[in-house]
Amino acid sequence: MKKILKKYLILFLTTFLLVSIYVFSVNAQGVISPEKDTAYQAVERNASEVGKIGDAIFNFAELGMQEFESNDLCARLLEEWGFKVEKGISGFPTALMATYGSGKPVIALHFEFDALPGTSQQAGVIERKPVVEGAPGHAEGHNTNAAVVMGAAFGIKEAIEKYNLKGTIKVFTAPAEEKGIPRPYFVRDGYFKDVDAAFHAHVGNDLSTSYGERQYAVITSDFLFY
Ligand SMILES: [Zn+2]
Repeated sequence: MKKILKKYLILFLTTFLLVSIYVFSVNAQGVISPEKDTAYQAVERNASEVGKIGDAIFNFAELGMQEFESNDLCARLLEEWGFKVEKGISGFPTALMATYGSGKPVIALHFEFDALPGTSQQAGVIERKPVVEGAPGHAEGHNTNAAVVMGAAFGIKEAIEKYNLKGTIKVFTAPAEEKGIPRPYFVRDGYFKDVDAAFHAHVGNDLSTSYGERQYAVITSDFLFY
């Protein structure tokens, strides 16, 4: 039951991200264009597959900077879908940029998928029940971040392909959200230079969204007091 709920949550969040991306092109009568409908249908049709991405990353449960299996899975899928995948961007072994389409606008979709130390937990169980005592787990739901963005990327790609739409999507996988490491390096290295709009997915309270300047290029520092 819990597993089904989790799949529905991922499906809902994915659809939500698609809605955020396409909301401006719904016409005054509220009619959804065939292009957008194609994207929505692609997500609906692949709901259980999108759920499996989230489940797989939940089970990999890899700590920040060690998300090798999680990143490989995303790389393989994105390549399979026809994205051009550049691995190891900004020197991070568990980061990639995957590009689809051409020309403007350029839309970035970004997520991290690191697990938290010591939070190993069996799926679908409410009480504390680690798979491996003391091992990492997805206590914060970063596996869902990945599934949502991957599902959205697939849906948008289907629409671009079917209607020969102008525009580029750039999907970023990134390590170690908990340590606040990679984002400034992507910006420094010019990966966001031509980007017109950037979407970052993170699970949150009440499925809320926000926009504007946030902590999105956050860096981590150590302060020593003597
Ligand atoms: Zn987080």
